[in-house]
Amino acid sequence: MTYRTVSCAYCPPTVRACRQGESDARGPGFCPSKVDPAGIAGASSRYADAFVRDVARASALVESEGYCRWTRVEEIVHLAQRLGFRKIGIATCISFVDLAHTLSAILESHGFEVASAACKNGGVSKEAIGVRDDQKIRPGTYEPMCNPVSQAELLNRAGCQLNVVLGLCVGHDSLFFKHSDGLATTLVAKDRVLAHNPIGALHLADTYYARVWGPQRPAKPPAKPAEGRSNDSPL
Ligand code: SF4
Ligand code: SF4
Repeated sequence: MTYRTVSCAYCPPTVRACRQGESDARGPGFCPSKVDPAGIAGASSRYADAFVRDVARASALVESEGYCRWTRVEEIVHLAQRLGFRKIGIATCISFVDLAHTLSAILESHGFEVASAACKNGGVSKEAIGVRDDQKIRPGTYEPMCNPVSQAELLNRAGCQLNVVLGLCVGHDSLFFKHSDGLATTLVAKDRVLAHNPIGALHLADTYYARVWGPQRPAKPPAKPAEGRSNDSPL
């Protein structure tokens, strides 16, 4: 069986050979080391860029130094300090402005300059992006669009070197990441149902949140990636 698609999600717990640097030898057929070694090599060459290398090294050091001790807020502070950044941006949901206030003050207490932009900045109507009145959350009312491109532009113009996303919606966060010039990281991932703890839907996918499955839910989770299910060959 020759796989064409990298599928680490199906790597058995007893394999996961990359952890020992042995994926060439022990990785399954769908392992990136087998399917696309050129992709891995291409990424390696990008670490020749001094900035990419610095960020990668600083991230590794923050991970090890604060392992299981630092909260994500503290990790953000330490990462920015290690990289010598002076200015941090906060891209916040309008519903999180109180928390953005707390975060901004915490960052300032560590000596950073901070800029922050709420998603509704500019107050541009949803009609501007083709949303009809009957497609609004509350039809008949004025609803400003979430404007993540503007958030990114504002924080870019403010010279932010690291931007922290606070509760932006799915898709809005995607546009923010795409348009941010500075590095960007998520502090809070919006999930209105799970108190912004989206992993809950995965932990409870077989019980309370079984509704997350689509109509083709298998009787039991497949052991192999889709490409390999038509034969009995090993992984
Ligand atoms: S498939 Fe390869 S890279 Fe992916 S988890 Fe397994 S050993 Fe690691
Ligand atoms: S669109 Fe999303 S990010 Fe913007 S205000 Fe609404 S919930 Fe917040």
